[in-house]
Amino acid sequence: MSNIENIDTTAFFKLGYGLYVVTAREGEKDNGLIINTVMQVADQPTRIAVSINKANYSYGMIQRTGVMNVNCITTKADFELFKHFGFSSGRDTDKFKGAAFGRTPNGLAKLEGECYNAVISLKVEEQVDLGSHGMFICSVTHAEVLGNGDSVTYAYYHASVKPKPDKTANGAVKTEENNKYVCKICGYVYEGEELPEDFVCPWCKHGADAFEKVE
Ligand code: FE
Repeated sequence: MSNIENIDTTAFFKLGYGLYVVTAREGEKDNGLIINTVMQVADQPTRIAVSINKANYSYGMIQRTGVMNVNCITTKADFELFKHFGFSSGRDTDKFKGAAFGRTPNGLAKLEGECYNAVISLKVEEQVDLGSHGMFICSVTHAEVLGNGDSVTYAYYHASVKPKPDKTANGAVKTEENNKYVCKICGYVYEGEELPEDFVCPWCKHGADAFEKVE
């Protein structure tokens, strides 16, 4: 499926990724979001690139403060963790209320327990505007291994963590007039006659391209 001939966007799903909770802090407010776009891109000097959708509340926090933590998720994490950090916004929820977590030397949240195996503290050195996303190219100020659990990959998340379309959390039901479209990224179900071209997934912020019709 694609708007442009010769570009099969499902080929992009063959790219390998991990999944991470990026934590940010501004004033007294902690926030965190889940992304797959973290990569070490140079080693002399060490540089880690992090790309974040501008629609995310954390994006502005990181732009203004110039710091973030990357918390590496393990295969012990269940769908609730992805929902908690991935599908609610820090604009209207405090994702850290009542949660147990530590702090790295930069003062940002360090997530602990069997669902995490490392934390890396980053300082933004350069920013690149990529349209939907902004890319932060960062130096490392702190890095720590927290456990031996296997890092979760995007492929593992799709195969073993994400709920199957028929039992998604928001429970939309297919009726005679309506079609169901499921987000391939997070499992959100849109119900309606047609999926609008400019539709943005309310959970993961991916566009209409990420949806497929449930037959
Ligand atoms: Fe989604």
